[in-house]
Amino acid sequence: MQIPLNDLKKQYLTIKDEVNKAISDCLDKANFVLGEAVENFEKEICKYNNSNFAVGVASGTDALVLALQVLNIKKNDEVITTPFTFIATAEAIYRVGAKPVFVDIKDSSLNIDAQKIQEKITKKTKAIMPVHLFGQPADMEQICKIAKANNLHIIEDAAQSLGAEYKGIKVSNFGIIGCVSFYPGKNLGGYGDGGLIFTKEKEIADKLKILRVHGAHNRYFYIVHGYNSRLDALQAAILRVKLKYLDKWNKARYNAAQNYKKLFSEIKQIILPTEEKNKTHIYNMFTVRFKGGEKVREKVINYLQQQGISSVIHYPLPLHLQKVYSFLKHKKGDFPVAEKVATQILSIPLYPEITLKEQKYVAYHIGKALG
Ligand SMILES: *Cc1c(COP(=O)(O)O)cnc(C)c1O
Repeated sequence: MQIPLNDLKKQYLTIKDEVNKAISDCLDKANFVLGEAVENFEKEICKYNNSNFAVGVASGTDALVLALQVLNIKKNDEVITTPFTFIATAEAIYRVGAKPVFVDIKDSSLNIDAQKIQEKITKKTKAIMPVHLFGQPADMEQICKIAKANNLHIIEDAAQSLGAEYKGIKVSNFGIIGCVSFYPGKNLGGYGDGGLIFTKEKEIADKLKILRVHGAHNRYFYIVHGYNSRLDALQAAILRVKLKYLDKWNKARYNAAQNYKKLFSEIKQIILPTEEKNKTHIYNMFTVRFKGGEKVREKVINYLQQQGISSVIHYPLPLHLQKVYSFLKHKKGDFPVAEKVATQILSIPLYPEITLKEQKYVAYHIGKALG
């Protein structure tokens, strides 16, 4: 048996006719960048997410960069975020000239530890950028309180969490801006790159629509330094089809996660992902942690590979220890929880179409590798 981490082909086959028709309609119209498909998609995803405005861009990374720029975050500013995330979060902060300031994560949810944010706030702090990691919302109530008390923006990195809720409210609605990604492996994945920015305010949405087309407020008339960062019409057409299934797929991911939890419940060497109160977890990734650390993990990865089972480490090195951030002068021990988790964690196959039989196969072999 071959079990990939995420089976995009299997999902495509369930919606093939609908997607192919959407693509061929788009080709017939020969309108490839922005246009009607993107506008319709922006309307539909706003409705889905109960958000005010949506602006489609070229990637989730661009969504974060444009979000920071539209809020005028720049050189000499600081933005607080987590060191245990995909590089794009901190990269976006660096791109606008600001400094990423890391705060350690909670051992339970692996999201930013809200209790440790206040001590990192300085006169230069302009925003908090929480990441809703692996599909579970960060502690938005506490984060909103801190942001309000210190007059900071919140930009949510919801790249892995479109559809997840905190106290019944969809993520990306807590901050002034929320960013999502349509990278194929995300819960709502396109067939290429894409991203989108949600915002509460019309003024910000209007500015973002200028920024994504080179800063032009009218064609060939430029008022700011912008970007070429637009959502393709083809991606929008595909995403419009897929959006209709997102809740169903997120539920299937959740159910598959519960299966794993039962299957692993007897294995003492494993720490399972936690689901916190008042949050819906949509499991972009299902991660297990090996108490035995790197050596045990290495053994499991190799054994799984021999059995045809894919697994990936998200993430092997926290951002503060990455070479690219050496200028921040962090050292080992600065964020002990993130550092420990990085030695333990492993993402195992989970996608909406995974079968119980496949999950049993994965769980059986992980158990066997552990002895
Ligand atoms: C995927 C991801 C991004 C970037 O999205 P792209 O569309 O790949 O540019 C940003 N932040 C997090 C947490 C992500 O997982």
